[in-house]
Amino acid sequence: MKQFDAVVIGGGPAGMTAALYLARSELTVALVEKLSPGGQVLMTHFIENYPGYPDGIEGWKLADIFAKHIDAYPAIARYSDEVKSIEPREGAHKVLIGDEWIEARAVIICSGVRYKRVGIPGEKELLGKGVSYCALCDGNFFRGQDVAVIGGGNSALEESLYLARLVKKIYLIHRRDDFRAQRCYQDRCEVNTSIEILRSSVVDRIVGEDKVEAVEVRNLKTGEVKRIDVEGVFVFVGYEPQGGFFPPGMELDSTGFIVTDQNYRTSIPGIYAAGDVRSKNVRQVATAVGDGAGAASTVISYLETQGQL
Ligand SMILES: Cc1cc2nc3c(=O)[nH]c(=O)nc-3n(C[C@H](O)[C@H](O)[C@H](O)COP(=O)(O)OP(=O)(O)OC[C@H]3O[C@@H](n4cnc5c(N)ncnc54)[C@H](O)[C@@H]3O)c2cc1C
Repeated sequence: MKQFDAVVIGGGPAGMTAALYLARSELTVALVEKLSPGGQVLMTHFIENYPGYPDGIEGWKLADIFAKHIDAYPAIARYSDEVKSIEPREGAHKVLIGDEWIEARAVIICSGVRYKRVGIPGEKELLGKGVSYCALCDGNFFRGQDVAVIGGGNSALEESLYLARLVKKIYLIHRRDDFRAQRCYQDRCEVNTSIEILRSSVVDRIVGEDKVEAVEVRNLKTGEVKRIDVEGVFVFVGYEPQGGFFPPGMELDSTGFIVTDQNYRTSIPGIYAAGDVRSKNVRQVATAVGDGAGAASTVISYLETQGQL
């Protein structure tokens, strides 16, 4: 069984930063990513609020720059597979990657989040047939057409602004009167002539046989239900942690995110969490990068005090 000082689970901004800091301290490090390095950044059209890029940067470009930085440290062992299980042990934890077990003295979980389903009839049935959770991946299929966007947070508004450049019309459907998104995104959506905002409204059903044909929208104040013809529906109604492999007994908050102390320690000694998967308020690239650096620094101190460095 291969042994490492530390294993980092997830190759998004948090995981790549953690691996970089650990490698620079000459620890033996494994970085595990089940898809492509970059995480959610790869699904983001344009990032305007990451310092160092005053004109903004496309998500895929930022992900590529992060990945190139990691490539400069060939000592990092890269695994392109999924972590399926962690078995906490005194001394060294066991981690199952695909069908291979490895051992690591410290584990940093940076597995991020996945987007939630809204849970309405038609959503599951029409997934990939007009229903999407990624504007950047699928927006192009709807050029010149009408689409609905469900949600009211940063992602919903940011992605509506991106879609507005491709599609004919967007119905931005939000169940509350006020948006949760940052003011700058709200202002831009409000003046965009391709975006019609439907507040205090919910989608009851996505209509269609082999492809999306319409949404049934209910106004929560008046009770009125109307059918709006659209070819696509983009869902951005929040996120949940990418788990399934968290060790039994690890403390989670009421929504399933990993609880840590301010030094990124979880309730299990030698296991840490960084980035969006952690229970916290702000989930952004900048905060994920900060978490990755902080968690790696705690791991370095932990291994030093254990006399293992
Ligand atoms: C549409 C959209 C727009 C956004 N816009 C902005 C913005 O403008 N500015 C900004 O700062 N932030 C933005 N964000 C948020 C930002 O992208 C995230 O906060 C950031 O990527 C979190 O980084 P992370 O490393 O914690 O997690 P993630 O980026 O989610 O990366 C986690 C990685 O872990 C991998 N993984 C998960 N489980 C396993 C497993 N079991 N085994 C192996 N690998 C696993 C995943 O494949 C993924 O690559 C946006 C996000 C989205 C989706």
